[in-house]
Amino acid sequence: MAQEVCSLKARLEEKEKEIVDLKNKLAQLEKSHASVLELQDKVTPLSPLTAKPALSNEDIMRYSRQLLLPELGVKGQLNLSGASVLIVGCGGLGCPLAQYLAAAGVGRLGLLDYDEVELSNLHRQVLHGEENQGQAKALSAARAVKRLNSTVECIPYHLQLSPENALQLIQQYDIVADCSDNVPTRYLVNDACVLSGKPLVSASALRMEGQQLTVYNYCGGPCYRCLYPLPPPPETVTNCSDGGVLGVAVPGIMGCFQALEVLKIASGQGCILYQQLLMFDAQGFRFRPIRLRPKQADCAVCGESPSVTQLIDYEAFCGSAATDKCRKLNLLSKDQRITVQDYKSVVDNSGLHILLDVRPLVEVNICHLPFSLNIPLSSLEQRKSEDIQLLQQRIVQLKQQMAGDCQPPVYVICKLGNDSQKAVQVLEKMSGSELDSITVKDVCGGLMAWAMKIDPRFPQY
Ligand SMILES: [Zn+2]
Repeated sequence: MAQEVCSLKARLEEKEKEIVDLKNKLAQLEKSHASVLELQDKVTPLSPLTAKPALSNEDIMRYSRQLLLPELGVKGQLNLSGASVLIVGCGGLGCPLAQYLAAAGVGRLGLLDYDEVELSNLHRQVLHGEENQGQAKALSAARAVKRLNSTVECIPYHLQLSPENALQLIQQYDIVADCSDNVPTRYLVNDACVLSGKPLVSASALRMEGQQLTVYNYCGGPCYRCLYPLPPPPETVTNCSDGGVLGVAVPGIMGCFQALEVLKIASGQGCILYQQLLMFDAQGFRFRPIRLRPKQADCAVCGESPSVTQLIDYEAFCGSAATDKCRKLNLLSKDQRITVQDYKSVVDNSGLHILLDVRPLVEVNICHLPFSLNIPLSSLEQRKSEDIQLLQQRIVQLKQQMAGDCQPPVYVICKLGNDSQKAVQVLEKMSGSELDSITVKDVCGGLMAWAMKIDPRFPQY
């Protein structure tokens, strides 16, 4: 009997010890899991990151195929483990970039994005899934990256990079990758990298620059401002057509190239092919390396006597907003515009008018209002004779229907209400000379406002 009691007590003690061990293990796991999922809404100091002293057996197995590369080797792999990279933008470029950096074993990734995942992102932003819609992109990307390689430390930042936080953030990383798609952010990231002495690997899909990849501020090379001292006029970067993009063709390929350049720098391969810019023509499938103009002695930020010695107001400098979303132009007076609600009552009261849709034909093919006449803004600007004739014919018809010598009303619509304002200005110049006199008004907010406020069945894109 006594023996049995002793034995049971011993077993109980053993089990209790096991429970304590399990609890500790669980707490540790929960802690490491929580640190992954902790979405940062501000910049906080990070603990220093050091390279691993040696590769574990698991590391050797995981990275074996790239360890065999003489350019990388064990030394390069250990360098990667001690490298930190800040990715500005977790969209079309940032997704493939983050994926390959994590897979290759970069020690720490900062993933920054102010936006949330939308259905229309998924065709090119391949780290996000259907179930992530509405989630912060930074968090969605961090979770996907962790699934791929749990040994990579991920810090998701759900915030907008600004002159107030950029230096503090960028100083904490070794390399910065610009995956943003707006001009003010590109100048902000550039200046912060120059001021903190960090290499900037920049891929761009901006129309004015084409699709290109460049490493700035590295190995004595130029910075972004050396190449583009002045921002482009805001009208050239603000319109309603986002421009089509095939996920793989531009962001997919450029994001992968960006990953390659980041890995070369992070693994310590030194200055290999810098001061070059790689242009990519997706349509003709051509890559063209272009020698970069060298660092400019009179550059405002990296030159010999810089005028920019701290971060400035980049939205004011560029005259445009630091988001990838369409900025709203305000070119017209109030009486030159009509709300979608007021336009709806014109339609409901069978008011005679012309609805002129000034979007490009590809967009009209996606969706349009059945009674609209399509003449793209570009045709109006170029005064394409057949289009102008068509419009003139419609104006004459309308005048006959109205049976009076009035100025027939023409309402101009586009996707979001920027291009339509430009079209109103063009048409007002033509009214009474190239065309019969008309009264032109812009439909505020365009078809997307129509879809949101008037007809929820109208597709949004
Ligand atoms: Zn410069």
